[in-house]
Amino acid sequence: MITVSWNFKTGWAAPELRPYGPLTLMPTASVLHYATECFEGMKFYRGYDGGLRLFRPDRNCRRMLSSAARIALPAFDPTELQKLIQKLVSVDGGRWLPKGRPGEFLYLRPTMIANGAGLGVQKPKEALLYIIAVCFPAFDGPSGTQRMDPTQVVNGNGDATVQAKKPGLKLLASREDMFRAWPGGFGYAKLGANYGPSLIAQAEAKARGFDQILWLFGPQCDVTEAGASNFFVVWRTREGKMQLVTAPLQDKTILDGVTRGSILELVEQRLSRGPADLGILEIVERKYTMGEIEEAAEEGRLVEAFAAGTAVRSNSLLWTVGLY
Ligand SMILES: *Cc1c(COP(=O)(O)O)cnc(C)c1O
Repeated sequence: MITVSWNFKTGWAAPELRPYGPLTLMPTASVLHYATECFEGMKFYRGYDGGLRLFRPDRNCRRMLSSAARIALPAFDPTELQKLIQKLVSVDGGRWLPKGRPGEFLYLRPTMIANGAGLGVQKPKEALLYIIAVCFPAFDGPSGTQRMDPTQVVNGNGDATVQAKKPGLKLLASREDMFRAWPGGFGYAKLGANYGPSLIAQAEAKARGFDQILWLFGPQCDVTEAGASNFFVVWRTREGKMQLVTAPLQDKTILDGVTRGSILELVEQRLSRGPADLGILEIVERKYTMGEIEEAAEEGRLVEAFAAGTAVRSNSLLWTVGLY
C-alpha cells in the first residue's frame, strides 16, 4: 500500500510504499467519531490485448479532491494522486494480474481519513491518505452468463419447474422514509457517510430476494441511483423519439460516475446525431419519476433499464425494476 500523511502546519509528507498492514489510530481519531473520510473506487485491468491499464484515473483523482473538500479534508494535486496510484500498480499489478488471465482486475481504493486525536468537533488538523489494492469478488460471472443458474419457478398450475433465470438484476424501490441523499447534502461526494446509513435498506432488499435498492427521492418518487451505481432508462416518447434518460447532477444528490460520464459521451458521439434511419438516441439528463417509468412500461414504450458503475463487472445489464 501507499500512505501519505498530512498535517496542517507542515502539509503533505513524502509518500511511503509499504506492505499492506494495520494502521495505528487513537480511539479519539476524528474519523471514528465524525465520519471524516472519503474514498475512490477504480480498477486496474489486464486487457485482452495483454496490456495493463487504468480507466480514466484522472477523473477519479479529481472526484476525490472534490469529495475531500466536502468533508473538510485537505486539498491535494490530483495529478500527484494519480502518480501514486500508477506507482502502486506498477509494483503490484503484474504480480496479481498475470499475462495469461485477460479480463481480470484489481480493485483500487484510494482513501483519506482524519486520523488526528481529539474529540473536538472541528476541521481536521491531521490526515492520512492511503491507497490499497484488493482482489474484489466479481458481482457476476463473465458478461452474458450472469445469473443463468437454474431457479425453481412455480407456474400457474402450481407445478414447480426448473428454468434458467434471465440475466439481469432485480431492484427494490426505496421506501418514502429513507433517502440516500438530498439537496444541500453530500450525495455527489464519495464519503463513507453516504454508505453506512444505506446498508439496512440494501440488506432488506437482499432478504426479500432483490439484488439492490433503487433509490427514489421525494414525494413524487424521483428515480436517482441504484445501489452504488448510476441508473439509466431507455424509452420511446409518445411522439416516437428514443431517449436515454438519467438523473441530472445539478442539485448534487447524484454521484458523478466515471462510467455514467463515459456512457453519455459515447452516446453523444455515436448515437445522438446522424441519419434518422440509424436510430437516434437522444440524451436526456433530467428529473424523472417512478410513475413515468410505470407509464412507459404500461404503454409498451420502455426499452431497457441499466445500472452503471465501476464495481459492476458486466458492461450493461438489463435490470428489472421491482416496486412496492
Ligand atoms: C461510485 C458510485 C457510482 C459509480 O461511479 P463510477 O465512477 O462509475 O464507478 C455511482 N453511484 C454511487 C452512489 C457511487 O458510490
